[in-house]
Amino acid sequence: MTLVGVLGLQGDVREHVAAMAALGVATAVVRTPTDLAAVDALIIPGGESTTMSLIATREGLFPPLRTAVAEGMPMYGSCAGMIMLAREVLDGRPDQQTLGALDIAVRRNAFGRQVDSFEADLAMPCLGEEPLRAVFIRAPWVEQMGPQVEVLGRVTGGPAEGRIVAVSSGRVLATSFHPELTGDLRVHALFRDMID
Ligand code: GLN
Repeated sequence: MTLVGVLGLQGDVREHVAAMAALGVATAVVRTPTDLAAVDALIIPGGESTTMSLIATREGLFPPLRTAVAEGMPMYGSCAGMIMLAREVLDGRPDQQTLGALDIAVRRNAFGRQVDSFEADLAMPCLGEEPLRAVFIRAPWVEQMGPQVEVLGRVTGGPAEGRIVAVSSGRVLATSFHPELTGDLRVHALFRDMID
């Protein structure tokens, strides 16, 4: 049976574990290289990417995480997790490390300091006709991407109209928003299907 790891250094770890459990998928919290070696896929939660980067560096997790990326481990990142998966961070900390699992450049806190958090209905055709209620909390957006990256969702309406907030490439998926906070399991189900 597939075991999905949830990177448990910081952030909304429990919510991702609960979402996968609701889909009947087994999970394990990953805090060390040994934990990582035991899982088939990895979810990187929302939280604070600079803190996650610091703790992952301290725990010696970047080398095995980069190996997992190179070996094609399926990965899903929400919000700070999207930042962790990116090739490049704009407005990051100078010492902030990422995995480069997705050929994207993301801008941290892109929606502006005055817009701490907001919710919006997103059209995500890959999830069916019904729009997805998306929760954004100091969210990034995708500012540049390579040709093999597929856009799965964009903001419609408002000052951020057209901004890219959901992407995938191969078996790597990322969203600027937090499906783990809404009870709508379609993004997690999409990731489960990408693993299989
Ligand atoms: N702004 C956070 C960061 O830079 C992300 C916020 C979130 O994950 N909700 O990591």
